[in-house]
This record gives sequence, structure tokens and C-alpha cells, in this order.
Amino acid sequence: MTAYAAPVRDQLFILHDMLRIETLDLPGFGDLDRDFTSSILEEAGRLAAEVLAPLNAVGDREGCRLEDGVVTTPAGFRDAFDRMREGGWTAIDCREEDGGQGLPHLIHTAVQEPFVSANMAFDMYQGLTHGAYSAILRHGDEAQKALYLPRLASCEWTGTMNLTEPQCGTDLGLIRTRAEPQDDGSYRLTGQKIFISSGEHDLADNIIHLVLARAPGGGEGTRGLSLFIVPKVLADAEGTLGARNSLRAGKIEHKMGIHGNATCVMDFDGATGFLLGPLHGGMAAMFTMMNEARLGVGLQGYAVAETAYQAARGYARERLQGRAITGAQNPGGPADPLIVHPDIRRLLMDQKSFVEGARALTYWGALLFDRASRGDDAAEALLSLMIPVIKAFLTDKGFEMAVAAQQVFGGHGYIEESGVSQLVRDARIAMIYEGTNGVQALDLVGRKLAHDGGKAFTEYLALVRGFIEGPGAALGEDFLAPLSRGLDDLQAGAMYFLEHGTKAPEEAMAGASDFLHLMGHVALGHMWGLAAVAAGTCNESEAFCDAKRATARYYLTRHLPATALHLARIRTGAGAMMALPAEAF
Ligand SMILES: Cc1cc2nc3c(=O)[nH]c(=O)nc-3n(C[C@H](O)[C@H](O)[C@H](O)COP(=O)(O)OP(=O)(O)OC[C@H]3O[C@@H](n4cnc5c(N)ncnc54)[C@H](O)[C@@H]3O)c2cc1C
Repeated sequence: MTAYAAPVRDQLFILHDMLRIETLDLPGFGDLDRDFTSSILEEAGRLAAEVLAPLNAVGDREGCRLEDGVVTTPAGFRDAFDRMREGGWTAIDCREEDGGQGLPHLIHTAVQEPFVSANMAFDMYQGLTHGAYSAILRHGDEAQKALYLPRLASCEWTGTMNLTEPQCGTDLGLIRTRAEPQDDGSYRLTGQKIFISSGEHDLADNIIHLVLARAPGGGEGTRGLSLFIVPKVLADAEGTLGARNSLRAGKIEHKMGIHGNATCVMDFDGATGFLLGPLHGGMAAMFTMMNEARLGVGLQGYAVAETAYQAARGYARERLQGRAITGAQNPGGPADPLIVHPDIRRLLMDQKSFVEGARALTYWGALLFDRASRGDDAAEALLSLMIPVIKAFLTDKGFEMAVAAQQVFGGHGYIEESGVSQLVRDARIAMIYEGTNGVQALDLVGRKLAHDGGKAFTEYLALVRGFIEGPGAALGEDFLAPLSRGLDDLQAGAMYFLEHGTKAPEEAMAGASDFLHLMGHVALGHMWGLAAVAAGTCNESEAFCDAKRATARYYLTRHLPATALHLARIRTGAGAMMALPAEAF
């Protein structure tokens, strides 16, 4: 398989030509000139390509082993993790007082991309740790911050999220794990969590589990839940490690992909835990971290598709099969390369237009994240609206595009040696965890769309319309016409829910996934419009700018028409979907 190379040029185009980050009047953005970001991204790309990518197949083949409660990660993971830690890559946007570099979340996001593309399973060990860092930063008291933040920033200790239990996945109100208060202010946690990513491993001295559990007095359902810090090894205030806590990994799950990441059943048997945030305020504490986590999973969706695309592109140039319909392109050889065939071009253009558009949308989302964390309420509302779209659309399409790459390989794509099969298997989980994509659609339609009288949604429509009629007009009359029609469809879809959803909520729920995809296409169309405008003025080569405009046109003309289909489906309502009684299946 073609070796992965970080797409630094495209990353820089999005950061500097599309988003023009160095011109933004935001704290922390003033120093982000092109030389600075390019040196960081080149370096991150090198680490990804030279250290992490070669371990991807190793991780897939070897997986993680559990023996006597100890998990061994695949060969090479420990050294690679040390290199990532020592290079400061785990703390890009962490506070300087915690040993971080205090850079914007946008730069953290751009740096994460090549790590995920090169080795998603490996990157998850630090990804979950970053989530734990953010939770403690937001909700911890001063002593908790002093003890945990520097160690999580450096990944000297890693972190996990413990929500899921055998009887409880989407419906967290069913959580049974109990937390009993102790005289010293700590809690004793008892229960079983399943599917816990990075739950046990040999990459760090300690693992800080954030556990959602039920303490007395909170009642049933999600209202009764609290969040706890439950370390694998208990430590004093200086961080000196002491006794092992009463928790262990009971099993590693055998799963379809991301074999290099240890997905564990975690048994808590009276384990010592410390309340994080308010008692019975566990759900609210979790919610504050969801934007970051879901943005990160959306990134996984396209980052794995990027690697698959690079492989497919390389294969399509080398593999000789058949002749071009317009006449031989490689007359001296036995056949022409696959890339001459229009159907292979379709697959490659689908992948290229998705991956580059998705990259732009994710960076745009990360920029909203930075604005929101600097007190911009409108950015916070827009981000909150867009998060389910970024998470679910980019992971649904990311998987589809990994399959498209596999298709370019023909039968060889189905054989493990090609490497592309692993990418298909790895990409699949991102559609499921961190809230399934079906549940993201319900969140979008059931909560986000109508929030605050639909203010954020209305502002989003105005933002895209303003672009089409403003800077986008320079692209010519027809260029953005598909986006304009898509925007009309989006508005019509929302109107349908408004008219029918209050009378019969099933109507809105039935159309939720279609609405999310409709909005995803508009969001990517918007990004491609921005890219086409930026390509008109940027300093890149003519070939690069021409390719941007051609790819924008491809996405707009070939993919935006899908909005009409999604709208038509939304308008069929729940009737046909719910016509059969449950026994008829
Ligand atoms: C490899 C892997 C790693 C994971 N890592 C973690 C982790 O680190 N920490 C953690 O806590 N969990 C983790 N999970 C768990 C993951 O988040 C859950 O699997 C996911 O949230 C779905 O829960 P479930 O599997 O119980 O499915 P269910 O909740 O049973 O859902 C089954 C199906 O029904 C749909 N559904 C459920 N409720 C509704 C509804 N009300 N309306 C419409 N449709 C509905 C879902 O969309 C889904 O399609 C991981 C899972 C895997 C496989």
C-alpha cells in the first residue's frame, strides 16, 4: 500500500487561505503565521508517517493481550508513545502552567489529523487522555487540577471515559454502577463498565478513569448520575504513586477493527473515587466535553478516509487493466493504468472531494470551538448546532469513502495484505461510539434545531446565504447554484419538522438522519464554495488552484443534488416507515 504522507499543503491552504487564521483578532492567534504552522505540521506529519504509520498494520495484526489483569499493547507502541509524549504532541493546546503550549484548539486539531490517519487505534490512547484533561480543567477543584492536569497533558498518566454498561449504551439513565460516600469525602465505586477504550495498557504509569455512577439521593434516570475520578493507582497530592485501586480489566473485547486499542471490560469492586464537579451533576459535566469529543470523532471519519484515498490514488496509477475508452494511454504497456477509467475517476473524485471538504469543515468547527472558549456565545451556539453534523456526516461518509478506496483495489482490497481492508474495519467504529450516528440525528432535530427559538439554525442559513450572495458571487452565476438549491431544501426540511413535528413527534424522528445528511451536504458545499473563492487569490501553484476549483465543482454538481432526495424522504414522514406492526418483521 502507498505509504501515508501528511497532506500539509492542503492543511495550510485551509488554515491560511480559507480561514485566514493569522488575520483573526483572537487571543492566541496573532503568532500563527504560515511559517509557524507549516513547521509544526511538517514535524507532526513526519512523526505520523515515519513512526506511527508503520505500526498501524502491526497493531491490527497483534492486537492487545490481557494476562493476569495486565494488558500488553502491540510491539513498538510503547516507544512510539514515548516519542509522542517527549515531542510535546499531547499537550499542544493544554495550558502552559500544565506544561502545554497553550496553542488554539484548531492547531491541536490540525496536528491530530496526521496522527489519526497514520494510526487511529494508537492515537486513541492520547485522545481519551485529552478528553479527561479537559473534563478536569473544566470541573476539577484546585487540588485535582494540580495533581492531574500536568500528568494528563504530558500523558505520563492517561485517561478514559467510563459510561457504557452491559444494559446501558445510548440510554445512560440505565447506569447501575454505584458510588457510596465515605467519611473522608471519597466514594467507593462498584459496578461493571464495558467497551472502555484504552481501559488498561502498558503505555503509562497510571490510568485516570472518569466514571459515570449513581450516588445516593439523586433519584433514577440521568439526573441521579455523578462523575468520578477513579485512578488505577492511588497517588498522594505530589503525585507519588501508592496502592493499586480496586479495579481491573476483566476482558479485552475481540472486535472488527482498531485492534491496537485495548477496549476493555472494567470491573470496579469498591474502588476509591473522587467526585468531579457537582454531586448529581454528572450528565452536565459530560455534556460540556461532548463538543470536543465529537469533533475529534468527526476528524477520525475523514482522517482514515484520507489514508485510504492516498492508497487508492497510488494503486489507480500503478495497476494496469484495460484500455482507456478514448484510446490507449500507455501504448507501450500491456494495458492502461486504472486511473484512465471514468468509473475509477468517480471513486477517486468522491474521495478527494469528501476528504478535503471534510478537513475544511472540521477546522472551521475547531475555530468555532476556539471562539466559543474565548466567550463568543454565538460561536458556541453555532458549534453546538453543527457538532452532530460534523460527527455523524463525516463518519458515515468517511466509512463510505474507505469502502470506495477498497473498491479501487478490486479483489485485492478485500485481501488483508493490501492494508485498505484494515482502514475499512477501523473506520466503522466512528459511526457508533461517542453517540451513534442515529442518535446524533435525533440530537440535531430534537434539540439543536429548535434551541433558543431556532436562532442558531436561522443564523447558519443566513451565514451560507450571505456567502453565496456575497464573496461567492465572484465565482459566477452558476457555480454555487447547487448550494443555493441545497440551502432551500434545508430550510424546507426544517419547515416540515416545524409544521408536523409538534403534532406528531414521530414525523421529525423518522426524517432525522435524512435531515442530518441534507445539512452535511450543505455544510460541505459551503466549504467548497469557500475553497473555490480562496483558490482565486492564494499563492499556491496554478495546478493546485485549478484542482481546487475543479474539485469544488465536482462536489457541488455531483453531491449537492442529494439534498433533494433527502428532502423528499423527509416529506414521506413516519407513515411508510412505521406502517408495519413490530410482529411483521
Ligand atoms: C470499540 C468501542 C469502543 C468504545 N469506547 C467507549 C468508551 O471509551 N467509553 C464508553 O463509555 N463507551 C464506549 N463505547 C460504547 C459506545 O459508546 C456504545 O456502544 C454506543 O454508545 C451505543 O450503545 P450500545 O452499543 O449499547 O447500543 P444501543 O444503545 O443498544 O443502540 C443500538 C441501536 O439502537 C439505536 N438507538 C438506541 N436508542 C435509540 C433511540 N432512543 N432512538 C432511536 N434509536 C436508538 C442506536 O442508534 C443503535 O443503532 C465503545 C464501543 C465500542 C464498540
